[in-house]
Amino acid sequence: MILILKPETRRDSPEFQSLMDYLANLPGIQVRVHEEHGAQQTLTEVYLIGDTKTLSLDDMKSLPGVERVVRVSEEYRILGRHRDDHRPTSWEYNGVRFGQDNLNVFAGLCAVSTREHVEAMMKALREHGQVCTRMGAYKPRTSPYAFQGHGKACLPYVFELAGKYGIRVIAMEVTHDKHIDEIREALHQTGHPTGVMLQIGTRNTQNFELLKAVGRQREFPVLLKRGFGITLEESLNAAEYVASQGNTRIVFGLRGMKTNMGDPHRNFVDFAHVPVVKRLTRMPVCIDPSHSVGSRDAAPDGLLDIFHVTAQGVIAGANMILVDFHPEPSKALVDGPQALLLEELPRFLEDVAIAREAYERRVAAARRARGEGEAAGAAA
Ligand code: PEP
Ligand code: MN
Repeated sequence: MILILKPETRRDSPEFQSLMDYLANLPGIQVRVHEEHGAQQTLTEVYLIGDTKTLSLDDMKSLPGVERVVRVSEEYRILGRHRDDHRPTSWEYNGVRFGQDNLNVFAGLCAVSTREHVEAMMKALREHGQVCTRMGAYKPRTSPYAFQGHGKACLPYVFELAGKYGIRVIAMEVTHDKHIDEIREALHQTGHPTGVMLQIGTRNTQNFELLKAVGRQREFPVLLKRGFGITLEESLNAAEYVASQGNTRIVFGLRGMKTNMGDPHRNFVDFAHVPVVKRLTRMPVCIDPSHSVGSRDAAPDGLLDIFHVTAQGVIAGANMILVDFHPEPSKALVDGPQALLLEELPRFLEDVAIAREAYERRVAAARRARGEGEAAGAAA
């Protein structure tokens, strides 16, 4: 059960104190307090864990400071969408809004190679109005002898260049909790020219200690990739792990599943799950067409498979795209064969815009069919 408190209820207020005193005396019920920091206000939610069946909704609603009560009938207590649950499906980070109703593109380098490549990438992004990117500094690799990423050594120039080119959010994978400190430290040293979204890669989706570490901090939002060999439910529970530690600014990433049924793609593209994740949870959903497809193969219509699957994810309502580009793919240190070229960026963005417009038209048509006006808020 979730008690949603009146906006701006402070933890040091007498109301909050008497609520906590009351809850502490409920037998067999554990209490956890979460704060959701929205653009306008802070919402405090109190999670009651244990046998809550005997608690009456009306009794709970009448407690001091309580505005609404949601009975959680399903899993994903924090991130899930529950009956009569109108909690937000969007949040903001460093001036960029992430929600189930909008779309952000994170085009960038799979792995940071050289300063020159980073600069060429960011310059192209600015020329095309982009404020987000991906930059891998810590790379989990199949072979221990493969390049493992430049690590903390590249962070200062990556962050400085991001500031120079107006990049507001960099998606960057972390594979160890000490990487969070290294990122924090480098941002501090460079004067916070940009922001970072901590990416948990598919190989670490069930690294529970890492999930707890990114969940304990509130400074950086998290992009959690789906595990490539586990069920969707298991991956959504991994996201809930992060949220259970206090950080609810999480984007859920689809990146394809490991099975030879997807051949000749690197992974079996799972973007049909975009609407499923949006229905089950309040997280914005990211798609990663590069790691799903894994090649620059093109269809006879002239469009690369990466463009096709991106459009499929976007037309299904995806909220974020993580996509590999490289100024000189032959010199890329990781995943060169799947990288798009900088000169393909405007075409890629145009294709994304076409698919997004089609998605918005589909949502509007569905709303009309239900007899709702165009002006009705899109909960898409
Ligand atoms: C990546 O995005 O660079 C990456 C390694 O992705 P994944 O964890 O999905 O393989
Ligand atoms: Mn990669």
